Amino acid sequence: MVMRIRLMTRVASAALTFTLLQASAAVAFDLKTVKVTPRVYALVGALGPRSYDNQALNCTMGLLLTGNGAVLIDSGASTLGAKLIARKIASLTDQPVKWVINTGAQDHRWLGNGYFASRGAQIIALARTVKSQKTYTESHLQRLKGLLKERLAGTRPYYAPNPLPGNSARLELGGMKIEILWPGGGHFPDDAIVWVPSEKTVFAGDLVFNDRLLGIQSDGASVVRDWARSFEVMAALAPAHVVPGHGMPGGLAKARRDTGDYLAWLLRNVEPAVSEMEDIGEVVKRLAEAPFRRLENYDGLHRKNINLTYLQLEAE
Ligand SMILES: [Zn+2]
Repeated sequence: MVMRIRLMTRVASAALTFTLLQASAAVAFDLKTVKVTPRVYALVGALGPRSYDNQALNCTMGLLLTGNGAVLIDSGASTLGAKLIARKIASLTDQPVKWVINTGAQDHRWLGNGYFASRGAQIIALARTVKSQKTYTESHLQRLKGLLKERLAGTRPYYAPNPLPGNSARLELGGMKIEILWPGGGHFPDDAIVWVPSEKTVFAGDLVFNDRLLGIQSDGASVVRDWARSFEVMAALAPAHVVPGHGMPGGLAKARRDTGDYLAWLLRNVEPAVSEMEDIGEVVKRLAEAPFRRLENYDGLHRKNINLTYLQLEAE
């Protein structure tokens, strides 16, 4: 009888510990993992804006398991964030991260490079993407400093040491064929995508925003017309799976609903207003209700996107 009571107490305290762990896990930021194919995972961060709490991991990274080492697509925005990504990967596979491919120039696509390089990973990117990273390094680090404070400690820019020339590159990593392609301008002018034919998977980086509204950069980095065209270049690969730069992975139809259709909507609706020289303030007001309200960050970004699209088309 005594034994049984003791056992029950132990079970009860174990249950309590479990509940407490769950409670703290609900508070601490973590990446969600989604298995896309037996060899492909998406590591999904926050949908909202970057913050101290989410370590500027308001983005989605990709993971490819070659059987002879893992390929990480994009390395997060800081060394601390990279460590979080590494822990998540270790919970999914025993394979070490041997390669990191950077798809883009935005902070969370590559500022974790240094950590993975220090652990022996080879950092890979197109030369044009690296050039673009260098253009934005200072401004992105300044913004992160204000946001991440001491959490940015130890983060130093680390660029792919042997950047790949041209607009595309075919690689074989761990026996798997991989293509890095520049589809044309997108969220940033030199962002690339990674195509893995055997998995019918495209790691789209910031070309695709799922579940949340994309943001047109106000410094002219995102050219709406180019981005819309680049989306079609990606779509022409006919991927079965799209691991986006933001949001949950899905098929091409989802990427089109959340990104391609929105870019097309902006062009279709703003272009006639520009040719009729309608007042920009009136246009923003008139188009404020678009069929994309279901997407996260709509209220924060949609009006600004119309405004910037108008200015771009007007300047053409
Ligand atoms: Zn991004």
